Amino acid sequence: MWRVATVVTLHDETATARTITLEVQDWPGHVAGQHVDVRLTASDRYSAVRSYSIASAPNSRSRIELTVERLPNGEVSPYLTQEVAIGDRLEVRGPVGGWFVWRAEQTEPIQLVAGGSGIVPLMAMIRSRAAAVSTAPFRLLYSVRDPGAIFYRDELRALSDNRDSASVTFAYTRTIPRDWPRPPGRIDATLVAETAWPSVIVPTCYVCGPTSFVESVTNLLSASGNQREKIKTERFGSTGEHT
Ligand SMILES: Cc1cc2nc3c(=O)[nH]c(=O)nc-3n(C[C@H](O)[C@H](O)[C@H](O)COP(=O)(O)OP(=O)(O)OC[C@H]3O[C@@H](n4cnc5c(N)ncnc54)[C@H](O)[C@@H]3O)c2cc1C
Repeated sequence: MWRVATVVTLHDETATARTITLEVQDWPGHVAGQHVDVRLTASDRYSAVRSYSIASAPNSRSRIELTVERLPNGEVSPYLTQEVAIGDRLEVRGPVGGWFVWRAEQTEPIQLVAGGSGIVPLMAMIRSRAAAVSTAPFRLLYSVRDPGAIFYRDELRALSDNRDSASVTFAYTRTIPRDWPRPPGRIDATLVAETAWPSVIVPTCYVCGPTSFVESVTNLLSASGNQREKIKTERFGSTGEHT
């Protein structure tokens, strides 16, 4: 079922990513980790559909936030990050997904691992934890190209400054901030051993990002002793669909 969604705010997260707040007619509510399908239809009836994770925590208002990273040659993401304006109407279907979700009843340790825009559904989990005043221990390992590519920068910084809250570790693949203790590089076994929950405490792991990132991190978590069924994954591969 497609619902009408009106753009109510726009916020640039980075030079190439934008958060869009949508007010969705008759929104049934969602759980952190779920996504929606967004359909854009041109005046000649050509339409394109793409999936986008929900970044916001469940709330009593009919509002959801999406954060979209612009792909230079993409069909839909350049429109959503550059063209869409407040008051515009889109169509959304969802929420979709029942496996890659975190619910406030979960009290076990949680390990989140994000690559690039894969932070979006994990941010919904972090925000849900805060909204529910949950004390479930959360750790986030977030891989980005460079410091300018971090989404939700201030919120994550506040989180890592607050010792009682979730802990955040950044991993930079290309450019590191000055005085950063590690050279640039991909997440590897050493970084997992130093920053992720040890597997003996049996964390539930959520891994999200491009397909190759998800596969590599899943192998690392598994090699460090985590059971495969405790590792939940979401792949941001191409979702191209048009009519
Ligand atoms: C469950 C799910 C949730 C998602 N959530 C988000 C989200 O929160 N934020 C977000 O920015 N994106 C998200 N995506 C990706 C999104 O659905 C689109 O694939 C992306 O925005 C590209 O669409 P496009 O029309 O701009 O590019 P297209 O015109 O579809 O593709 C252009 C080119 O880029 C390649 N490509 C397509 N998608 C990707 C990708 N994700 N990474 C690298 N190359 C790609 C294509 O193969 C093609 O060569 C999600 C995908 C899934 C499956």
